[in-house]
Amino acid sequence: MKNVFIALGSNLGDRLEHLRAGILMLEQHPEVSVRAKSRIFETEPFGVTSHQNTYLNAAVELETGLSASDLLKVMLKIELSRGRERTERWGARTLDLDILIYGAHIISASNLEVPHPRMLERAFVLAPMLDLAPTLEIPGTQLTVRQALERLNLEGIWATELEF
Ligand code: ATP
Ligand code: CA
Ligand code: CA
Repeated sequence: MKNVFIALGSNLGDRLEHLRAGILMLEQHPEVSVRAKSRIFETEPFGVTSHQNTYLNAAVELETGLSASDLLKVMLKIELSRGRERTERWGARTLDLDILIYGAHIISASNLEVPHPRMLERAFVLAPMLDLAPTLEIPGTQLTVRQALERLNLEGIWATELEF
């Protein structure tokens, strides 16, 4: 069994419903148990030039017997079931599910990089992670989640009152 952290994001359609459905479908998988959920954050779109809605972002902690690549396949199917379309890079999306951390593993395959290579730059990923595992060291970085987040600007990120 591996301890895994996943990021969820949505900025298109019924954002809360997409996040809820994503977690529900993960929970329903026989080889996945959802152990903890972060608060839900609202965040300004990041790294995009075209106008986009704000995002809802969250993170969840899972326990799973699935390999990282099988878990990714499950996640990509869940995204598709919520109508995810991939057009431009970092375009608006109904549901984005990223593997942030998969146990202590460091993976660098063409279709899967773990820890997620951009998580250290992303307060919208690390702020939800802080709810789940502030003292966890991000594999390969010698930084805890809290230390990684302290290096970033928290402008444009708010915890909401929304609940799963
Ligand atoms: P970013 O990766 O910068 O957050 P994105 O989430 O918008 O961008 P997507 O279009 O959702 O990118 O994903 C493109 C591909 O990234 C996926 O099909 C998957 O194969 C690959 N990928 C690599 N590492 C990961 C990871 N840790 N979690 C999820 N997908 C990953
Ligand atoms: Ca992403
Ligand atoms: Ca993704």
